[in-house]
Amino acid sequence: MNNPPKSPGGVRAEASDLGGGKAVNFLEELIQEYIAAGGKELQTRFPPEPNGYLHIGHAKSICINFGLAKKYGGLCNLRFDDTNPVKEDVEYVDAIKRDIQWLGFDWAVERYASDYFEQLYDWAVELIEKGLAYVDDQTQDEIRTNRGTVTVPGVESPHRARTVEDNKVLFARMRAGEFADGARVLRAKIDMSHPNMLMRDPILYRILHADHHRTGDKWCIYPMYDFAHGQSDSIERITHSICTLEFDVHRPLYDWFIEKLEIFPSHQYEFARLNLTYTMMSKRRLLKLVEEGAVMGWDDPRMPTICGLRRKGYTPVSVRNFAEMIGVAKRDNTIDLGKLEYCVREDLNRVAERRMAVLNPLKVVVTNYPEGKRELFRAVNNPENPDVGTREVPFTRELYIEREDFMETPPKGYYRLQPGGEVRLRYAYLLKCEEVVRDAAGNVTELRCTIDPFSGDGSSSDGRRVKGVIHWVSVPDATQVEVRLFNPLFTKEDPDDCAEGETWETNLNPDSMVVTSAFVEPSLTQAVTGVPYQFERVGYFCADTDSTPEHLIFNRTVTLKDSFTKKVQ
Ligand code: ATP
Ligand code: MG
Repeated sequence: MNNPPKSPGGVRAEASDLGGGKAVNFLEELIQEYIAAGGKELQTRFPPEPNGYLHIGHAKSICINFGLAKKYGGLCNLRFDDTNPVKEDVEYVDAIKRDIQWLGFDWAVERYASDYFEQLYDWAVELIEKGLAYVDDQTQDEIRTNRGTVTVPGVESPHRARTVEDNKVLFARMRAGEFADGARVLRAKIDMSHPNMLMRDPILYRILHADHHRTGDKWCIYPMYDFAHGQSDSIERITHSICTLEFDVHRPLYDWFIEKLEIFPSHQYEFARLNLTYTMMSKRRLLKLVEEGAVMGWDDPRMPTICGLRRKGYTPVSVRNFAEMIGVAKRDNTIDLGKLEYCVREDLNRVAERRMAVLNPLKVVVTNYPEGKRELFRAVNNPENPDVGTREVPFTRELYIEREDFMETPPKGYYRLQPGGEVRLRYAYLLKCEEVVRDAAGNVTELRCTIDPFSGDGSSSDGRRVKGVIHWVSVPDATQVEVRLFNPLFTKEDPDDCAEGETWETNLNPDSMVVTSAFVEPSLTQAVTGVPYQFERVGYFCADTDSTPEHLIFNRTVTLKDSFTKKVQ
């Protein structure tokens, strides 16, 4: 169990820095070309909208943006894309910062698109003055209808020919709060029959009488994403504006604003977003799960959020290694959830201390061990890391073993406990099953066993060897704790795969969290949240954030073996 786990698909992930010694991905090629052509001051940014918590997809984007800047001597900014006051909140801002830092990254500067509202407004006026923007009084519906379709050209707005002066006045009045929400918009004057629908006079500003979490009631018009993003990049002199593929249709517009405003030429590059099997990564839908109480919160260990993974026991290294392992692609694909689990298993194997815990207990009475006697055996904390030393585990006449470690009529090749058979109790004696005790219904309630008293140092009284080693906990020394076992949040590989009339929510897994209990060895009563343990032969666990000294709760981070890909095949 101490060997590095096998990866699904036979890929070996190495704990290395981004791209270290490997073939470089296409983004790195772009940056290398940029540097070779004399490009300086490499600058990237990570631009979250503060309308939800970050998820594992964002983690990939963070690793790319911060990782590339770090590797090639550049800087990466954190920019909050806060142009939609209705959905945004400081709670999200704080959570996003916490998650990025937890992942191990530091931004050069922290900026907000809202820092640039005044500049963006001036640029909108500049476009009006250049005859490249106009105020439109059409209703939202009219605008939508008149935009045409992919095959049908759009119809120009009756207000498209307004004079520069009229547009300036109307736009100033929009800002001054003279009109109701939705009454007017500012649009770019591009081409209503452009093959790219986004170029058909896109909306630059809308009226929204809503308080903004940073600018308060200063503004009642807000720029659209397209009008804010590229210009914000330009202000920050972002050289490589890296985003996900769905933005490729926005690129012509991104370039159009930069060209018409004659500002710093940032460039946008797209990569494939991360999709994971059994996982949903839309913030809108994750928010729904939180609001409807389908999960315990944004940091529920079943959520694909960074804080959920953290609470579940994932390490920053494991998430970074995962991002590295899956690489950067130009085409959308879906990654097997088993790969993420592989990465955490591999890291935890390295760092987690070992402990003994019994989840499904069967009592063993050692009949040839004196009542009241108590010995301490020395247990290795982590065979992968001798530096963390050893601890003592108490041994007494009454023990718990795992029910699955005993079988009355076992198949051939079963090395665990059976009537008349012998196993090694980890770190302690050889144990032989002498008698099986049952209740009236015939269920096994207890095993009466003997130990070989000369086997406590790993040997035996006559040199015999046994193949099976099982874990155990001394009954009077055991603490009962709550254990939460997690399964994927969705029953389908693709949560959107549902029958007509049904929604993705019907695919929620009713067994995504199984609450049970365990008996744990004494040292685990000191477990601190965030510190991972391997419960020997059972899985990786860590104390939950809800755990208290009176009521200890452990989350299973991941099983020891790749049971997942097997199960889903
Ligand atoms: P969602 O669709 O989950 O709501 P979003 O794209 O609206 O996410 P943003 O806050 O706008 O979320 O995203 C910040 C950055 O993270 C963007 O550059 C976006 O392209 C990137 N990103 C979002 N989701 C993923 C993903 N699944 N894989 C990789 N990058 C992602
Ligand atoms: Mg977005």
